[in-house]
Amino acid sequence: MSQVLHQEERRQFERLLHQQRVDRVAERLKVLEAFLASEEHVSAEDWQRLLAQAGMELEPDFVAQTLELLTRFGLAVRRDFEGGPPRYEHHHLGEHHDHLICTGCGAICEFFDPELEALQQKVTKAQGFHPLRHMLHIYGLCQNCLGKRQPTLPLALAAPGERLRVERLAGGQNLSGQMQDLGIGLGCELEVISAGGGAMVIAVKGCRVALGRGAAQKVLVSHVNNGNGQPRG
Ligand SMILES: [Zn+2]
Ligand SMILES: [Zn+2]
Ligand SMILES: [Zn+2]
Repeated sequence: MSQVLHQEERRQFERLLHQQRVDRVAERLKVLEAFLASEEHVSAEDWQRLLAQAGMELEPDFVAQTLELLTRFGLAVRRDFEGGPPRYEHHHLGEHHDHLICTGCGAICEFFDPELEALQQKVTKAQGFHPLRHMLHIYGLCQNCLGKRQPTLPLALAAPGERLRVERLAGGQNLSGQMQDLGIGLGCELEVISAGGGAMVIAVKGCRVALGRGAAQKVLVSHVNNGNGQPRG
């Protein structure tokens, strides 16, 4: 982003702080400067580190409160990506982008597609709905993580949303029997519904089943290209 724009944002923040009679203006401006110097999506913790790097030791509460002000004044925007702390990024007036979030390494990539934006306008208009804002977060694997992915893996390592094919059952007769009871056989396609907590929940042939971690370790699967789901009937 251009230096001129950032200088203008600094001026506006300073003016708003004075207007709203907020204290410690000079220090708050330092917090803004550390933020504007980074083009990343930063957590409060990252922000603390950026400030420390710039030689500033400010109380976490003060930094958190300043973050709130930046958000309220429209200089920062908060993003709640799944599985991590709230993150903040620059809010430049009139600009918009959406996000690709890698569930493997946490990388966040931004994109803007005018056709996709226009399509969203079309969809909302067709519903007689007036859209005010939207956020599109697509979770998946970045190129880097995709390159490192093993052709087959234990089901226990798969992430929610992954579609997989059963390649091998590495647990003998007992496991085969147990899997048969759940409707899981060789060549079967599965989708991971959730993977947190004790058991995994898997969709198989339109049925949701729970599978213990131990068993999921022994079911070897390969990746199936993700479809886009079915429209609701
Ligand atoms: Zn968008
Ligand atoms: Zn990644
Ligand atoms: Zn962003």
